[in-house]
Amino acid sequence: MKRAVYPGSFDPVTYGHLDVIRRASEMFDVLIVSVLNNKMKNPLFSVEERVRILKEATKNISNVQVDSFSGLLINYAAENNIHVAVRGLRAITDFEYELQIAQTNRKLSGGELDTVFLTTSLEYAYLSSSSVKEIASFGGNISECVPDFVAALMTEKYRKRGGVYEQQD
Ligand code: ADP
Repeated sequence: MKRAVYPGSFDPVTYGHLDVIRRASEMFDVLIVSVLNNKMKNPLFSVEERVRILKEATKNISNVQVDSFSGLLINYAAENNIHVAVRGLRAITDFEYELQIAQTNRKLSGGELDTVFLTTSLEYAYLSSSSVKEIASFGGNISECVPDFVAALMTEKYRKRGGVYEQQD
């Protein structure tokens, strides 16, 4: 069985992520989309909420599982017998950062964890969770960025926060 992990913050999942998930799910027997638990200081959604959102958004793809993890990806991968991480590349700006992480993971894992990159579909190249949050916080239309139920949850969050957008990354 070829298993891969797609790690990320997913705060929240966008159509860009879902495009990567769908394409990666066709390449592996099992794709585990795993929410990283310790990076963001002030996320819009809790890890549990992000996991629930991802489960709902991927419920029609039978070989996708959703999980969360803390700490180093290489340890999580080793514990789950996973040797491939999937990451998405949008633009050259992603490249330097992603290359460094991929090489570090490969080195630290003694070659046990490799990274596979999927380039974004062009229609989603501009999408990031942070820009979607910024637009939503000002009441903008995000219907082309995230599934409708995610947009509704974001609107509700920002209503409770009084529309305040806080830079997370
Ligand atoms: P992280 O904080 O780990 O970067 P994100 O949730 O922002 O987490 O992104 C997870 C992964 O998805 C990263 O590899 C990122 O480059 C990729 N990604 C984000 N948005 C898109 C998009 N619109 N198209 C393709 N890949 C994307």
